[in-house]
Formats: sequence, structure tokens, C-alpha cells
Amino acid sequence: MPIRPENRWLYPIDWQQLSDAIRFERAGSRCEKSRRPHLRPVVHLGDGRWWWDAEVGYWRSDRGCRISAKGFTLASLRSTYVVLACAHLDHDPGNNDPANLAALCQRCHMIQDAAEHRWERWWNVFRLRALRDLYEDPRITRERIMRPQ
Ligand SMILES: [Zn+2]
Repeated sequence: MPIRPENRWLYPIDWQQLSDAIRFERAGSRCEKSRRPHLRPVVHLGDGRWWWDAEVGYWRSDRGCRISAKGFTLASLRSTYVVLACAHLDHDPGNNDPANLAALCQRCHMIQDAAEHRWERWWNVFRLRALRDLYEDPRITRERIMRPQ
């Protein structure tokens, strides 16, 4: 996930080198949770939990463990292009201790940051409602609702 311009100053100046060291040297270009490979298309069962590791020739779970996938049809298979990102496990971009960083694929990163994304979604709705309350005339809105143009 790209760094937002307003958050860029929170990251160290050598973030790119730090991120590369975690993703490629420590993790070996694979997600540290699911083991999905970087910059490769991965076949999975739609929801992304089970995926085919073509390098070793077997199915893996979302935790990277070998599994025997059964009960699916070829029509249920999907393909995703994996891109690794370096994630802060405690969501603090100022904490760049290697123990706090992990190389994660998009799916694992979204799951890791799910609570933060929910909060941001709530904050955006709250912020937009507050702006609307400041600048919108409720009488005009009410009239438009009663008599649509
Ligand atoms: Zn992953």
C-alpha cells in the first residue's frame, strides 16, 4: 500500500532500503504470514484463504501451511497478482524496529490493518457529516427532500 503524502514525514528517510531489507533479504520475497511470492500471479479459491504454490506444487493455507484442498471446481479459481509491502505490526510508522516490521502480501496486510481501516472509514464519515452540518442549510435540504426537482 503506498504511503499517503500527508504521512510521508512519519517514515524514516531510508524507508525504501529498510523496506527492501525486510521484504527481500529477511522474508526472501515471500509474505511472512501466507508465504505468497512477490510479483507473481497466485491462483486461489476466490476468498484467498487457500492458494496454489506453483513453486513447490501444493496448496497452502492463509498461514502458509501445506493443505490438501478438496471440494472445489475449476470455475471457483481466481488469480491475484501479489505485491509485498512492509507493514508496521503495531501501526506506528515511527516504530521501525525490525521486530515490528513484516513483509506482507495485500491480503495479509488488509487483515493486519483491518481495525485501522474501519476506524478511518468511520472518521471519514464523521468528518464529512461535520462539514455538511457546518455548511448545509437544513431548510434547503428538507425542501429538496419534500419536493424533488
Ligand atoms: Zn500474505
